[in-house]
Amino acid sequence: MAVTILRRQPMEIIETLSNKFPQFSYHEGHSFLWSPETYEIFYDLRKPSPSQTWSLLHETGHALLEHNYYDTDLELIKLEVAAWEKAKEIASELHISIDEDHIQDCLDTYRDWLYRRSICPKCSTKCLQQEKIEYYHCFNCHTIWKVTPSRFCRSYRSTKHTKKPSSVFYASDGLSV
Ligand SMILES: [Zn+2]
Ligand SMILES: [Zn+2]
Repeated sequence: MAVTILRRQPMEIIETLSNKFPQFSYHEGHSFLWSPETYEIFYDLRKPSPSQTWSLLHETGHALLEHNYYDTDLELIKLEVAAWEKAKEIASELHISIDEDHIQDCLDTYRDWLYRRSICPKCSTKCLQQEKIEYYHCFNCHTIWKVTPSRFCRSYRSTKHTKKPSSVFYASDGLSV
């Protein structure tokens, strides 16, 4: 029984999750993401890997926690951590285990990205994001630089509705390419 459960393929997991959480709709797409405005979860099964199941659980975690926006880069990382915690809860209910190294690798991607964009381009001091979130201000040399909105949060045209959600939550490993 346990072996059968461990060998469950992502398609079976999608079916299980769809039945368990009928409030969300799961669709094939080109990455793993949660679209809070349309309650859709997209998945990409083109390259088979055990992380597909984990990404499905992670996006479902964002969905269950109703993540729909964040004000700062740091807040995004907190949401990412929370989504993985939720993913672990769902995983244990389904008798699946998520590789802890995979979770840490995903979170490291975010931490590295946050670190890179918070370094002053002029004097290399590490700075904090300003209230106006698209700007960082160096407290050392007073340089101000603009950062693009999070690369983990992009506008995405839904296949179900014509309106464009303002934000979506991507699985970080779907973006490292
Ligand atoms: Zn995420
Ligand atoms: Zn500086």
